[in-house]
Amino acid sequence: MTTLSITGGRVLRPDATVTRADVLVDQDAGEILEIGSDLAGEGNETLDAEGSLVTPGFVNGHCHVAMSLLRGYADDKPLDAWLQEDIWPAEGELTAEDVRTGAELGLLEMIKSGTTAFADMYFDVPEIAAAVEEAGLRARLGHGIVTVAKDDEGARADAETSLEVAREYDGAADGRISTAFMPHSLTTVGTEYLEEFVPKARDAGVPIHYHANETEDEVAPIVEEEGVRPLAYAAERGMLEPEDFVAHGVHVDESEIQLLAEAGTSVIHCPASNMKLASGMAPVQRLRDAGVTVGLGTDGAASNNDLSMLDEARDAAMLGKLAAADAAAVPAEAVAEMMTAGSADAIGLESGRLEEGAPADLAVIDLEKAHLTPRHDLVSHLAYAAAAADVRHTVCDGRVLMRDREVLTLDEAAVRERAQAAAEALSARAGDDE
Ligand SMILES: [Zn+2]
Repeated sequence: MTTLSITGGRVLRPDATVTRADVLVDQDAGEILEIGSDLAGEGNETLDAEGSLVTPGFVNGHCHVAMSLLRGYADDKPLDAWLQEDIWPAEGELTAEDVRTGAELGLLEMIKSGTTAFADMYFDVPEIAAAVEEAGLRARLGHGIVTVAKDDEGARADAETSLEVAREYDGAADGRISTAFMPHSLTTVGTEYLEEFVPKARDAGVPIHYHANETEDEVAPIVEEEGVRPLAYAAERGMLEPEDFVAHGVHVDESEIQLLAEAGTSVIHCPASNMKLASGMAPVQRLRDAGVTVGLGTDGAASNNDLSMLDEARDAAMLGKLAAADAAAVPAEAVAEMMTAGSADAIGLESGRLEEGAPADLAVIDLEKAHLTPRHDLVSHLAYAAAAADVRHTVCDGRVLMRDREVLTLDEAAVRERAQAAAEALSARAGDDE
């Protein structure tokens, strides 16, 4: 057995307490063997965590990682215009190689900001899976289906691709990759395709992930045409099961919150994207009070514009209070849970907790910084004050992905250089001067 010890740190436990302890990891099994004192000499390999907080690796519950290539490409527009005028035309020019390059850039950023697992909806998923395999993270991947503006043949082919990807890549990268069937949203995929393909996804045994109730413009057409709220419509199509998870859930009414709670379907809250696109404020405290599992996600870098879960944590706490008009809403402890175990539970991973037998997915945050002094409450620091650049080490599945800020699985300079070149070529093809 090969072991890794993370020594001298303060460890965030599942009950939100922080204790001084060493962590011993079985690298072969990718599991935490023991959390306790005096484990310093036990590991074949050691990571110094003196003066640091050891947290579960962050779980980004909703992302489009390859969109990192479109970071800053188009900003300051509402969702519909932003997608139709800028993002979709640019995405139409993306090659499979661009998707690989964008994914590597996003994964590099995730490792550097302590994220060890994520859920992702995009196209050219084999390229993203290859990047995940190389980078060493854990992921639930899926091909996003859009049927609007496609003929029947094109629409069915897109849905078939999503099913094929879900079947073929489940369990890839030594089990670090799992999959889901991913209709883009309830308004961008026609009812007939949901009715035909959702049962096939159930037969394949994969969860279903989609954008739901992100903007008011997404709610109104369903209410008008179907006479029910979007999540009732989703439930009628068999898309509201305990293993399913929806992104956003901004414009959900009380009946839909109850529906989610009763179904056991999780919501991934994406506060930065919701603020940037002025989509609205998700009722996060009300969802949590109703017993809904709420995770946290960045959405794509084009609507955020970074993939740091530490930024997302602060945004979630701030926006949650504003949405509830209550400073006690969405407290630091809730945010710490949402960015780790909450997201992991939502997307169906066992990560997100530091305890014996759990997956060895963790991040070590350097506390010896002016903005993290003094140390009254480290959970507060995690939610409100820590930043991506404070992450020292990142470990996933027992493997060290970053040691003392140096990423070991990707060549940082080369990834950035390729991404810059690919983005410039993309802009030129998409007819943009910038
Ligand atoms: Zn999204």
